[in-house]
Amino acid sequence: MAQKKILIVPGDGIGQEVTEVGKRVLDAIAAKFGHEFTYDEALIGHVAIEATGNPLPEETLHKMKNSDAILFGAVGHPKYDNDPSAKVRPEQGLLRMRKELGLYANLRPIKLFDELLSASSIKPEILKGADILFFRELTGDIYFGEKGRKNDGDTAYDVAEYSRYEVERIGRKAFEAARTRKKKLCSVDKANVLETSRLWREEIQKLEKEYPDVQVEHQFVDALAMMLIKDPKRFDVVVTTNLFGDILTDEASQIAGSMGMLASASIGDGTGVYEPIHGSAHDITGKGVANPLASVLSAALLLDISFGMKAESELVIQAVDQVLKQGYRTRDIADANTPAAMILGTEAMGTEVLKFI
Ligand code: NAD
Repeated sequence: MAQKKILIVPGDGIGQEVTEVGKRVLDAIAAKFGHEFTYDEALIGHVAIEATGNPLPEETLHKMKNSDAILFGAVGHPKYDNDPSAKVRPEQGLLRMRKELGLYANLRPIKLFDELLSASSIKPEILKGADILFFRELTGDIYFGEKGRKNDGDTAYDVAEYSRYEVERIGRKAFEAARTRKKKLCSVDKANVLETSRLWREEIQKLEKEYPDVQVEHQFVDALAMMLIKDPKRFDVVVTTNLFGDILTDEASQIAGSMGMLASASIGDGTGVYEPIHGSAHDITGKGVANPLASVLSAALLLDISFGMKAESELVIQAVDQVLKQGYRTRDIADANTPAAMILGTEAMGTEVLKFI
């Protein structure tokens, strides 16, 4: 039996709805395996700005640092999306959280459940068997470099920066993960053009010597974007920079059929954060139709990575697989052949997962 403190940070929009399901799943796992999970909740994003004026209140940060793991929803609100000049923004909370918790690696497993082969816009024969683990660097690159305007505001710039240390620490995590999988690593950069990418490649090449059992390939990001759709099965572990990873993992979400199915883990020096890759989806907020499975699979990642609970994590993944096998779908993963009675809302889908657990 293990005792763990889990912080629930639902954030905005459908974050609230799907994280509730993720929490119910953690509860069910604790009951089944005799663990004691205690929960606290905290604000981030738009809801935090509304309540405190700060997208990441100090109280939230304090709770985050004092938890064993964090189940996170999403941040974002249309009010800010349409107002680029807003000085205080929900996503500032997310970026600051990553910095404060030293979360430098974002892991995104991209695996298609067989039952969803038809939900993707890619041909089933190309997709079947694809299983990729992405490592996106999270604290460097163009997102955190100097930015500004010059020439009376007519010219804008964002500076991309990487240090050897930043590349090495995520590179090492990716090599270690490759060792536990098919021992294949693809490093993605734009070393033909960017200096940051040349440094990136140098560091990965240094690590190659330490991991001779891992087969490494280097690809330019433009080529990788093409290959990912053409032949996803050729990849096992993929490691890349913050900006390229942001774009490529959304592209790769199509391999998994829907944004609503993909979980991610952000790990580093302190507490790990587990969250769906989708955003706050205000177009469907409050309708009870959001797919909660990405949050459920985020809970599975949390159990595995932060708590080392492999059997518990595996059971959650099996539950998702089983529910899909039984034919249950949320709207985003249903197709023309799905009977209306099998299309469930957020809560009902969660209940089916719980029944299996
Ligand atoms: P989004 O991921 O919220 O939604 C994209 C599309 O996918 C929408 O049509 C939405 O309805 C659908 N979708 C997403 N998740 C779904 C789910 N679980 N079930 C069913 N359908 C789902 O991306 P967006 O529309 O570009 O952004 C909306 C807001 O979210 C913005 O404010 C953006 O800044 C924010 N955002 C936050 C994060 C995060 O918190 N990590 C990530 C991406 C976007």
